[in-house]
Amino acid sequence: MVGALSGDPRHILLAGGGHAHAVALRQLAKQTLPADIRLTLVSPTTHNLYSGALPGVIAGHWKADSIGVPLQPLCDAANVQFVQDRLVSIEPDSRTARLESGKRVTFDLASLDIGSGIRPLDVPDALDVIGPIRPIGPFLDRWQKALAEIKAGSAPPSIIVVGAGLAGIEVGLAIHYRLQQEGIAAPSIHLVDAGSDIAGSSSPALRRKLARAMRRANINLILQTRIQTIQDGTVLLTSGESLETSLVVNCAGSAPHGWIGQSGLNTVDGRVEVDASLRSTSHPHIWAAGDTSYFKAKPLEPAGVFAVRAGPVIAENIGRYAQNSGLSEFHPQSDYLKLISLGSQRAVAEKFGVALEAGWLWHLKKKIDFSFLREHNLTPGH
Ligand SMILES: Cc1cc2nc3c(=O)[nH]c(=O)nc-3n(C[C@H](O)[C@H](O)[C@H](O)COP(=O)(O)OP(=O)(O)OC[C@H]3O[C@@H](n4cnc5c(N)ncnc54)[C@H](O)[C@@H]3O)c2cc1C
Repeated sequence: MVGALSGDPRHILLAGGGHAHAVALRQLAKQTLPADIRLTLVSPTTHNLYSGALPGVIAGHWKADSIGVPLQPLCDAANVQFVQDRLVSIEPDSRTARLESGKRVTFDLASLDIGSGIRPLDVPDALDVIGPIRPIGPFLDRWQKALAEIKAGSAPPSIIVVGAGLAGIEVGLAIHYRLQQEGIAAPSIHLVDAGSDIAGSSSPALRRKLARAMRRANINLILQTRIQTIQDGTVLLTSGESLETSLVVNCAGSAPHGWIGQSGLNTVDGRVEVDASLRSTSHPHIWAAGDTSYFKAKPLEPAGVFAVRAGPVIAENIGRYAQNSGLSEFHPQSDYLKLISLGSQRAVAEKFGVALEAGWLWHLKKKIDFSFLREHNLTPGH
């Protein structure tokens, strides 16, 4: 058993080392907490892979090992115990979490930042062909395998991306660019979506720019269609069309981890409903942020920017909890700068409904992403 049930010292469990907790740890390192506060971070991986820079890994602009946030040094700096494990359930009333290793953790306060998974494709017996974009580590292994097979000529230079949201479009363009860079003259990239338009809630200006980029890359956009079956590398679509593929990348939208919905916490669509201070509306001693949460005051799309902005609030509120004072509130911005890379060294930016495409925007995105990564990499030499 890790931790003690209330009393002295008070134990704060940080579940997951996502964007929000990485930022919170960085802030906590600058704060001094009372001696009776003890913190533990539980994460299944030693590094949190930064999704904003993932398309650049796929495209071959940088390596996977450059996009990880190392969690142990962040924990060391903030005087937080790092435990490599995974929560498999939480019992809010008894203030207990169960870990994959079989251990139980008791806590006085828990903060959940465990991100989300991907809505699974309802296609049985095809797990070896489908690569869900999350978790990112296993996805990158699957992508490297497909790339090696395509380059060796043992798999067709054809890839299907499911989900024409911003992530699916960015990933499809990155894959196209990479295959061309690897000498595949005419890769076939198919973007399949059940909806009737790309990039769902985005502005028309952004959708137009993205559609143009996809046309330039010859990406085959197939809307109002789902995958029906996959057999021996051949995908049958509900439209009746069949496509050969070496990989089906699942970008079909983020889906909360299933056990959250069974925890007894108030949830909306499987996400923990939180108040303005990021506390569960049913159990105020459980906090949640990022993709794990549903912000009741103003529902937010699952985006890293909101998780990052929640980080300082979590850190500040841990300090306030420790002092037994009232908590601060989270005030997410109403719009934010969207930067979507286009495979090559170009990007589209959009804010307040205005969209612009340029090479310098790709460099701006790279600068923003890598300053986050540098700032949160406390390993010696950084
Ligand atoms: C291809 C792609 C590109 C994207 N680009 C952008 C972008 O440019 N801008 C943007 O704003 N958003 C972007 N997003 C969305 C963004 O990735 C998410 O909104 C963001 O990662 C959410 O951060 P988080 O803090 O909630 O969790 P994450 O940063 O995803 O981290 C969750 C962490 O929790 C850990 N974890 C999972 N389960 C458990 C468990 N049971 N116990 C303990 N730990 C656990 C995971 O290992 C992970 O380290 C992109 C998404 C994708 C797929």
